[in-house]
Amino acid sequence: TRRLVDLDPAVHAAIGAELARQQGTLEMIASENFAPLAVMQAQGSVLTNKYAEGYPGRRYYGGCEHVDVIEQLAIDRLKSLFGAGFANVQPHSGAQANAAAMAALLTPGDSILGLDLAHGGHLTHGMKLNFSGKLYDVAAYHVREDDHLVDMDEVERLAREHRPKLIMAGWSAYPRQLDFPRFRAIADEVGAYLMVDMAHFAGLVAAGLHPSPVPHAHVVTSTTHKTLGGPRGGVILTNDAALAKKFNSSVFPGQQGGPLEHVIAGKAVAFKLAAEPEFAERQQRTLTGAKILADRLLQTDSRAAGINVVSGGTDVHLVLVDLRESELDGKQAEDRLHRVGITVNRNAVPFDPRPPMISSGVRIGTPALATRGFDEAAFTEVADIISHALRPATDDTGLDDLRTRVDALAAAFPLYPDLTETN
Ligand code: PLP
Repeated sequence: TRRLVDLDPAVHAAIGAELARQQGTLEMIASENFAPLAVMQAQGSVLTNKYAEGYPGRRYYGGCEHVDVIEQLAIDRLKSLFGAGFANVQPHSGAQANAAAMAALLTPGDSILGLDLAHGGHLTHGMKLNFSGKLYDVAAYHVREDDHLVDMDEVERLAREHRPKLIMAGWSAYPRQLDFPRFRAIADEVGAYLMVDMAHFAGLVAAGLHPSPVPHAHVVTSTTHKTLGGPRGGVILTNDAALAKKFNSSVFPGQQGGPLEHVIAGKAVAFKLAAEPEFAERQQRTLTGAKILADRLLQTDSRAAGINVVSGGTDVHLVLVDLRESELDGKQAEDRLHRVGITVNRNAVPFDPRPPMISSGVRIGTPALATRGFDEAAFTEVADIISHALRPATDDTGLDDLRTRVDALAAAFPLYPDLTETN
């Protein structure tokens, strides 16, 4: 019965400090978002106490009548949101969803083909220290050097050469859309499964602002906490009944034990919200914000300061800033933006001459600010702040002025106004 503040003041204080950090700075990490209060309420509920191994109606534990209702709601809402025949909402994270989906379709030693990590892929798409790189025989495709778009001719050539059992389409740092029909045609030609990891752009797909991979892929995986704006977690979708069975048994008992029903309740709430017009409007502002940022960074004054944008723009919720021509590297750029109150992550750009821990880029996303209510004027202001912060000539006084402008934006768009550290 003791409340957190009395029981564990150290953890309580750190949570309060984190709330203040989120409220007082501008979050532009492309993979982050702010979950609605209702989602956090569901997650912070008594559901965390419940074991529910199995699936709704087929559990290995008693007392599952209420969590069955919740998990079924999550499944039905997710299927309807993406027009998919089957859904599994139990993966604890995006990486778990990918591990389970791959384990269902592949045997260790099988060959897979995915986008190179250094060109925007994810760890789970075949990086050598990850389970995907250790279990499977990986070939990687790339973006082209001239326009930074995925080289579909290379995908086709590598597919013919390696005959992968699975082709992975998806990304963590790529500012354009993928050609799902062409990926599927290549997969069909070589007899591979097509897996699309839409973790980053799922919210855009749900809003109808990005082509859906669901009609083209054998399996689609996603996280639920990025553009989708829900609790941290993963999901698996398919239209194939036989594959759906394999995915279910691959998640449980293959990879996981008890599902996190408190998180699944948060997913159910997030999927309900994602079907509402307000969500689509927010995703539209997310896209508009990213375009405003790319356009600002491509203006002559910032180009003259060594700033460029990978692929010359964006069609999604993020911009990859290319600092290969700048004397500032990715680490310095990340630190400068942190200093003015904008949180981003440094990121390698394709054909990056600097080592990954330093890199020549920053990945900047707009989903969290769109959730905060940013409109065109606010995105224009933050784009101008970023453009100035990334110029080597901007000195300490200049950075202090930019911090003041960030503070004004944070105050104008309050985050979680009803939440206090004593909640
Ligand atoms: N897939 C993609 C494309 C991602 O970008 C990420 C996260 O960065 C993941 C999977 C992994 O998700 P999680 O961090 O929930 O394991």
